[in-house]
Amino acid sequence: MLGVLALAVLLVLATDRLYGHSTLAFAAAIVMLLIANAPMLRFNCPRCGKNAFFRGPFVVPWPNRLCTRCGEDLAASPPSQNR
Ligand SMILES: [Zn+2]
Repeated sequence: MLGVLALAVLLVLATDRLYGHSTLAFAAAIVMLLIANAPMLRFNCPRCGKNAFFRGPFVVPWPNRLCTRCGEDLAASPPSQNR
């Protein structure tokens, strides 16, 4: 996730230097971020459905090992597919 973010920023900066300010590169970077975020937003706790990337009010770029709501071991069970 952080690597994709860095890549997106680099892409915008590189295109900015080569072609001047480009909203197309900016749009491409946003689309890349959305694609990178899609599997992340589906990674929910299989027992209670809480997103593994949320730690209270904070979003972390890596999933929790234990669910912060019900304590389910998320590392042992595969991500829920039925949501
Ligand atoms: Zn849970």
